[in-house]
Amino acid sequence: MQKTIMIIGAGLAGLSVGCYGQMNDYNTRIFEMHDKPRGLCTSWKRKGYTFDGCIHWLMGSGSGNFHRLYEELGAVQGRRMINHDEWMRFEGLEGETFIVYTNLERLEQHMKELSPSDASVIEELCNTARSLTPRDLPVEKPAELMGLSDLLKVIKAIPIMRVIRQYSKISNQDYASRFSNPFLREVFPLILDDMPNLSLMAVLWLLTNSHIHNAGWPVGGSLEFARSIEKRYLSLGGEVQYHAPVEKILVENDRAIGVRLADGTEHHADLIVSTADGHTTIFDMLDGKYVNDEIRSYYNEWPIYQPMIQISLGVARDFSNEPRSVKILLEEPINVGNEVRSWLHFHHYCHDPAMAPPGKSVVVFEFLNNDYAYWKELYEDRERYKAEKERLANAVIDQLERCFPGVKDEIEVVDVATPVTYERYTGTWQGSYMGWADTTGKFGKSMSRTLPGLGSFSMAGQWVYFGGGVPGAVMSGRHLIQIICKEDKKKFVTSAP
Ligand SMILES: Cc1cc2nc3c(=O)[nH]c(=O)nc-3n(C[C@H](O)[C@H](O)[C@H](O)COP(=O)(O)OP(=O)(O)OC[C@H]3O[C@@H](n4cnc5c(N)ncnc54)[C@H](O)[C@@H]3O)c2cc1C
Repeated sequence: MQKTIMIIGAGLAGLSVGCYGQMNDYNTRIFEMHDKPRGLCTSWKRKGYTFDGCIHWLMGSGSGNFHRLYEELGAVQGRRMINHDEWMRFEGLEGETFIVYTNLERLEQHMKELSPSDASVIEELCNTARSLTPRDLPVEKPAELMGLSDLLKVIKAIPIMRVIRQYSKISNQDYASRFSNPFLREVFPLILDDMPNLSLMAVLWLLTNSHIHNAGWPVGGSLEFARSIEKRYLSLGGEVQYHAPVEKILVENDRAIGVRLADGTEHHADLIVSTADGHTTIFDMLDGKYVNDEIRSYYNEWPIYQPMIQISLGVARDFSNEPRSVKILLEEPINVGNEVRSWLHFHHYCHDPAMAPPGKSVVVFEFLNNDYAYWKELYEDRERYKAEKERLANAVIDQLERCFPGVKDEIEVVDVATPVTYERYTGTWQGSYMGWADTTGKFGKSMSRTLPGLGSFSMAGQWVYFGGGVPGAVMSGRHLIQIICKEDKKKFVTSAP
């Protein structure tokens, strides 16, 4: 008889578990609390504009092992990927400009022009990025299933592993402190995610993948990307039930046997897989009964990707000739929640005609590292929460008006998402936008997929892999089914549509 697998969550990880499960003759069913497949990989429509809330760069967009995974999941066939010339540019108050070109030769030349005395630090950065070969990363199998036949792949990956080991110990902030140029020193740690303590590997990864056109933007946006995986899942015979929040994981004799939904109905299966938020899964759905010190220490000590505030504008003006992504230093800092910010980051989506009506643009402001507790408390008082969102939107619109006079009157839609928005829509712990953060020493780490003492249960997704993002989420689904196949003494098979 076909083994049944019940999956909690139709984010990318849940859909991936489902697809690979179906490919391997398991009978899978997904319960998703919302009305769409997406989780954090989403976008939303407002008055003809599409506001994207996720993908900035998709590792594996062009080729290589991650790309093959996306092909198996039907996510990239027929989808154009756009590779940008610039990742971002920083503009200071005295006319200083640092452009993070995606081409490494151009970046190196530009940085050297900006700061000739930093030539050796710049060369080290660019040469290290050039030395990485992310297409060859052996991601198609979990480490514990690798055998002799994978030796060649592992040997091929040794140089990359060496670089990872060396540079994952250095933070962006530490590396930045090696620049003598004060502007580079200030802005380098802000290249990625405004998290100075992120491991330098994260930036190197971005640079190397961008350089080889493997960190593109999927035309149509994040929700379309997620929808194509849902389509693949359904075509493989999978079943998704939307509006089906799981309240509890049912356990009998320390074995997960099913789930109870918020409507009180109970559903049983041979295996239960949660791809929902890890904290909710472990401490709410399972009442914290299957934890040990290691798991507790993760939730008490390990850094997470901080939550985000996203202010999206639909503007009746064509921004396509403007730089795509800019961080400007403000003359007067603005208050964001209870934090004071002197850098303002905004970007437009004119590279993708699907995002705005012709001649119009989507312009998005982002603030990372926000105080989740502040927003959570504010949300309790809906009027104050609304007023703070409005104040913040007006503050950034005023800044945009300074850069582009007259734009204020051309704004047709304003949409503000706070850390509470992300939490409400996906359940993500403390509004985190990408789970565990790959800060120094944590790069490439993962948490156990299983819980101590609990059988017939596994987890997948961004709360298992550190800094995994989209590639980590889909990879974790594949790995899990490979492990299940191995336990069932079945040959793992895949196909691509
Ligand atoms: C603003 C932003 C920018 C990002 N940028 C990038 C990027 O540029 N590149 C990149 O690779 N990644 C990026 N990411 C990260 C990436 O989107 C996520 O890491 C990935 O989508 C996580 O997928 P997941 O399936 O593991 O988790 P989730 O997407 O969180 O999916 C979990 C699913 O479980 C559902 N669920 C939760 N609780 C329950 C319940 N009780 N019952 C039923 N269902 C439940 C949720 O609704 C959700 O659908 C970004 C994310 C955000 C928010």
